[in-house]
Amino acid sequence: MCQHSHDNPDIQQLFENNEQWVKQINEETPGFFQSLSHLQTPEYLWIGCSDSRVPANELVKMDPGTIFVHRNIANLVNSSDMNVLSVIQYAVEVLKVKHIIVNGHYGCGGVEASFNESNPDLIDHWIRPIRKYLQRSKESFKHLSHEEQANKLCEINVEEQVRNICHIPAVRNAWRKGQALSVHGFIYDIHDGKLHNLTETVDNIADADQTLFDRK
Ligand SMILES: [Zn+2]
Repeated sequence: MCQHSHDNPDIQQLFENNEQWVKQINEETPGFFQSLSHLQTPEYLWIGCSDSRVPANELVKMDPGTIFVHRNIANLVNSSDMNVLSVIQYAVEVLKVKHIIVNGHYGCGGVEASFNESNPDLIDHWIRPIRKYLQRSKESFKHLSHEEQANKLCEINVEEQVRNICHIPAVRNAWRKGQALSVHGFIYDIHDGKLHNLTETVDNIADADQTLFDRK
């Protein structure tokens, strides 16, 4: 196995960038890495899409150490996904984050795929929840253009994931114990780089259960 990446300029670039990044941070904030190496105390859990155009820390201009991040195709929170459930439980019970953010984005390929019939098998399986939201919205989508439908479905998808988070035991237990924890739904516009607050903030069980948050 080769441990050197000098032969591959695409990969070598990453190491060169890393060296520059370390140098820049050490110049701007001496001791930054030493202080971070002791522990992480992020206040935010970010659940976003894997899309390369939607980088978590960068678009909210936050330093390493401030956001605990989970990303998957179409920012889904599925109650049978051990990965996202573990991330949420660790973030809430151990790191004690104050905010959980679901960040969707317009132009999401995962959401778009729910309009298509010819996806790779696993993708099709993964986005099944979104296909359900699409089926449910067919009547209200009738008069919209495809782009409008896709944008609306991106928003519905975020709302649904916020709702899913409100039903996760680790989140509800935290609220029962009086732990400060808010759940937010954001949407990012890849056309102009702007982030928008999409949903009502939910910070207790009563709000999570109230009709306002029931399906429209
Ligand atoms: Zn996406």
